[in-house]
Amino acid sequence: MIDPDRALDLVLEKTPHRLHTDVSFLAALGLTLAEEVRADRDYPPFDRAAMDGFAMRIADAGRTVEIIGEVAAGQVPAMPVTEGRCAEIMTGAACPEGTEAVVMKEETERSDRMVTLPSSVQRGQHIAARGSESSRGSVLLEPGATIGPLAVAVLAAVGRERVRVRSPLDAVVITTGDELACSGAPPSAVQIRDSNGPMLAALAHQAGCREVKLLHARDTLGDLSRALSEASQSDVVLVTGGVSAGRYDLVPQALQAAGAELVFHQVTQKPGKPLLFAVRGPQLFFGLPGNPLSSHFCFHRYVRSAVRASVGQTPAPRGGRGRLARRWVTRVDRTLFALARVEGREEDLRITPLLGQGSADIFSAQRANAYLRLPPGTHDLIEGSPLDFEWTGG
Ligand code: AMP
Ligand code: MG
Repeated sequence: MIDPDRALDLVLEKTPHRLHTDVSFLAALGLTLAEEVRADRDYPPFDRAAMDGFAMRIADAGRTVEIIGEVAAGQVPAMPVTEGRCAEIMTGAACPEGTEAVVMKEETERSDRMVTLPSSVQRGQHIAARGSESSRGSVLLEPGATIGPLAVAVLAAVGRERVRVRSPLDAVVITTGDELACSGAPPSAVQIRDSNGPMLAALAHQAGCREVKLLHARDTLGDLSRALSEASQSDVVLVTGGVSAGRYDLVPQALQAAGAELVFHQVTQKPGKPLLFAVRGPQLFFGLPGNPLSSHFCFHRYVRSAVRASVGQTPAPRGGRGRLARRWVTRVDRTLFALARVEGREEDLRITPLLGQGSADIFSAQRANAYLRLPPGTHDLIEGSPLDFEWTGG
């Protein structure tokens, strides 16, 4: 038995750092950038009209002037704007030389080739000046950043069709237990449906794994070994169930038979005491307890940290501090990690521990969005007590 901090240290110690790989910007979503991305030109690359209207000189404010032509988006302006002569212009078009401001069409009055311009006009208004968003060569994305949809837009804008990222991990989730109804089949009176498999696959995707495969093994050494050998190419193998002390809890034996080296088994925590961690070369094996909330917690604290650390992201989940929404009395003999609902304004977050019916009760737990941590002992926390929490991330 080791304590939860030592367990996390060991997981991180054994987690290998991933190599780099080049992917298309469309495949980069959610991955970790492994290079600097710089602007290939000024942005905008030309003085760009931000409104449909007229490109004009400041001296012409309040006057009626001649319209010398029109510039549509994507067109090269044919002639300059000079005093007494303006150009009709569309959003996204390049301003003709000499343009000092763009006025909105709605603020003007037009008759044929003449237009009356508004009297109050600011220099530079409705013009996005060349280089005002970013100048050529400046750093737009830093290594280590997680690529979100806006970063995909940046990559596309600067012409980076391929980009260097940290190679994401592939995971396999092996569910165990003869009480699980096989996929699609209706459960018998003494069976349940598999909820851990889909939950862990969802968690693995959310943590940044690329491919996540679901396998099932019956509670026999032979079938567990078959599933483990099917998972032999996977970077992370999550086995759920079968790691406790029951007669059919054969996962430790099966892992040993598969040549995995046990790093630890059992952690002084609640939930998730039976957690097992083993390695085989760069491959990581987590034996997660079958109880859904134990599995959820062990993923949250250990597996996610490993997945994040492997691609160079900070392993610790985002945390915060709030106040208890009501009194909380509890006695624990191991470090307690309790699900809670955190809500309210950023500067006044209210925390409600969700007690539910124990570590199998996903129905009350699905309202939770955070974990609390309490050391072993007796706790009587009054309403308003300050507490740290970690966001579950959904
Ligand atoms: P075990 O860790 O195998 O002793 O399982 C502990 C509890 O978790 C038992 O009540 C199992 O039925 C339940 N359980 C195990 N695997 C799953 C699963 N994939 N989905 C839902 N419940 C499960
Ligand atoms: Mg079982």
